[in-house]
Amino acid sequence: MIMDYKELIIASGKQLLTEGFTVDTWGNISAFDRSQGRFYISPSGMDYHSCSTDDVVVMGLDGRILEGHRKPSIEWEMHRNIYLARPDVGAVVHTHPVASAVFACTRMEIPLLLDEAAQTLIRPVKTADYALPGSSELATNCVLALGDGNACLLASHGAVCVGADMKKAFKVAKVLETAAEIYFRILAIGKVPAEITPENLEQLRLRSKFYGQPSAQ
Ligand code: 13P
Ligand code: ZN
Repeated sequence: MIMDYKELIIASGKQLLTEGFTVDTWGNISAFDRSQGRFYISPSGMDYHSCSTDDVVVMGLDGRILEGHRKPSIEWEMHRNIYLARPDVGAVVHTHPVASAVFACTRMEIPLLLDEAAQTLIRPVKTADYALPGSSELATNCVLALGDGNACLLASHGAVCVGADMKKAFKVAKVLETAAEIYFRILAIGKVPAEITPENLEQLRLRSKFYGQPSAQ
C-alpha cells in the first residue's frame, strides 16, 4: 500500500486535538519519507480541523520547501534534526500536554516507573534546556535530550515524541502522558516511587521489540 503522507499529516493533526495533546493550533507533526529524503509537516498556526492536504508542507533535509504554499511549522528544524540524528525515526509528534508540562516546567526527569513506560519510552524522559520556540537552539537541545529514547520534554513548553511511524509516535505520546500523570500523583501524595531494577528495565526494552504479533504493524 502506498502511504499518503499528506492525508496522514491531516488526520494526525486532528488526532492531536481529539486526544487532548494540545489546544488551538499548538503542537505539530511530521512524517519522513526516507526513500525520498523528504518530510511532510503541518503548516504553522493553522486550525487542524480546517486543514486540507493542500496545506501540508513538504521539505528536504536541507530545509528547502519542495511542495506547498504554506509556511511550515516553526519547529521544522527540530523535526529535520531528529530525522538526521535518528535513522530509526519515521514520524515526530510535538505535543503540549498537561501532565508532561508539569515536569517540563520544573525541568524534572520522568522516570520509567511502569513496565509500559520502559517498553515504549525506552529511556527516562529528560527535559531539554530552554530555548525559544522555533529556534535552532531548541532544535539542538531537543535532539540532545532525546538521545536514543523515544520522548523528551521541552522546558516550559511541551513534549516531543518519536516512532518508526506515526502510530508508534502517538503511542509514545499516550504512554508519556500517562507516565507523567502517575508520577505527578505519586509526588502529590508525598510518596517515593519504587524503581524497576536496571536488569529488568533492560529486559523490558529487549522484549518490547518482540511484543505483539510477528507481523503486527
Ligand atoms: P506551529 O504552529 O508553527 O507548528 O507552532 C506551534 C508550536 O507548538 C511551536 O512550538
Ligand atoms: Zn510547541
